[in-house]
Amino acid sequence: MRLYEKPAHVLHDMLVNKEVTAVALTEDVLKRIDEVEGDVKAYLTITRDEALAQAKAVDEKIAKGETISFLEGIPGAIKDNICTKGIKTTCASKILENFVPPYDATAMTKIKAQNPVILGKVNMDEFAMGGSTENSAYHPTCNPWNTDCVPGGSSGGSAASVAAGTSIWALGSDTGGSIRQPASFCGVVGLKPTYGRVSRYGLVAYASSLDQIGPVTRDVTDCANILNIICGHDEMDSTSSEAEVPDFTKALVEDVKGLKIGLPKEYFVDGMDPEVEKTVRAAIEKYKELGAEIVDISLPHTKYAISAYYLIAPAEAATNLQRYDGVSYGERVESDDLVGMMTKTRTEKFGEEVKRRIVIGNYALSAGYYDAYYLKAMKVRTLVQQDYTEAFKKVDVIMAPTAPTPAFKIGEMISDPLQMYLQDACTVPLNLAGLPGMSIPCGYSASGMPIGLQIIGKALDEETIIRAAYTYEQSQNYHNEMAKLGGNN
Ligand code: GLN
Repeated sequence: MRLYEKPAHVLHDMLVNKEVTAVALTEDVLKRIDEVEGDVKAYLTITRDEALAQAKAVDEKIAKGETISFLEGIPGAIKDNICTKGIKTTCASKILENFVPPYDATAMTKIKAQNPVILGKVNMDEFAMGGSTENSAYHPTCNPWNTDCVPGGSSGGSAASVAAGTSIWALGSDTGGSIRQPASFCGVVGLKPTYGRVSRYGLVAYASSLDQIGPVTRDVTDCANILNIICGHDEMDSTSSEAEVPDFTKALVEDVKGLKIGLPKEYFVDGMDPEVEKTVRAAIEKYKELGAEIVDISLPHTKYAISAYYLIAPAEAATNLQRYDGVSYGERVESDDLVGMMTKTRTEKFGEEVKRRIVIGNYALSAGYYDAYYLKAMKVRTLVQQDYTEAFKKVDVIMAPTAPTPAFKIGEMISDPLQMYLQDACTVPLNLAGLPGMSIPCGYSASGMPIGLQIIGKALDEETIIRAAYTYEQSQNYHNEMAKLGGNN
């Protein structure tokens, strides 16, 4: 077994026990990148020399007998919308093609304090708008399980790199499913924390009332450990939660006896792939065997969530993206006058999907339409939130599919935005309500593509999600299986 195949917690123990050096580990992952990155294309920037220098420094520390933190010396990748001081942060957009942030996002500062090995920045849908990573202005990323398929999105590079072994862990962001859906498509673990758990300072804004940073990992143990690192109040983000951050690794216990699991009938939607439904229902049966109690519940406003999301998110995006005008931010395209310059800059440097959402968002916010669209969507948002509040009076967690289908083929949906938006049916309601949700692998389709189980928790109750996820994970072997790619495994 090669080193890149192991999760961070195993590698951490190996480093502590001097069974491996950080340099050897980093070299193995870089070798894996040389072997398969041409097929997967998860990265936008690879910081090879810096990575090796970081690894060397960690080995020197270990040699001196110093103790090391969880991620110390473990190679990981960062989604390209999270600001990294001195490293290009493009958001997979041409408008930020040469943007090198002068500061780190708070989540990045916290990660860096661990002394990890940063391999580089990973691909995404432009400005995190999309669900397939095909909206990247640079290149699509391929699913390591079948390179004809999408890895999901928008954190497609994060999930694909973890699944391919070209990173051990990654950070992603989730506005309407962008951590969970790619995790589901790539057979890895992805968690969107409760809104406010992780500071958004330095996360390039898409829809500020929905965006959250979270971990993408091989298993639930790594997820809990990374969550411990990135959570916490930050005065640089006024929406960050002041709630105490527990030690999430304490929730890594195998026990779901008496756990009440809600099964919302509205999440098994029309158009759901029968293989997905069968696999997810089988996982829920397993929970029953493990001692959990299954409760049928209803979240009646779920069917309106996509419509509300696709007004609220574009409305916020239209506002957030005003700053890319060729003056404050953005690669300028010169013209004779100011308006001409701004028009050219935005017309030439934004991609089609980004422009579509700016138009929808401005329309929804415009005088005369505001009440009919934006305000109405906000009312729906409240109803969706209330559905969950009611449901959580009866259950401890809610389980559902993460996505209605396994990974689809590259090119299959890109010309049909509506079809693409419907992919988000099971993920956007949580963002509207601000709740935490995790996707864990729970089986495969007949064609061998991973299927994800989504576990939804009460606000600030990531611990119950972790406990439920860990218990199931330990009863299965999915976390030990990797995509067969590049002749390995
Ligand atoms: N697919 C959704 C969208 O296109 C979610 C994206 C996200 O979570 N960033 O908006």
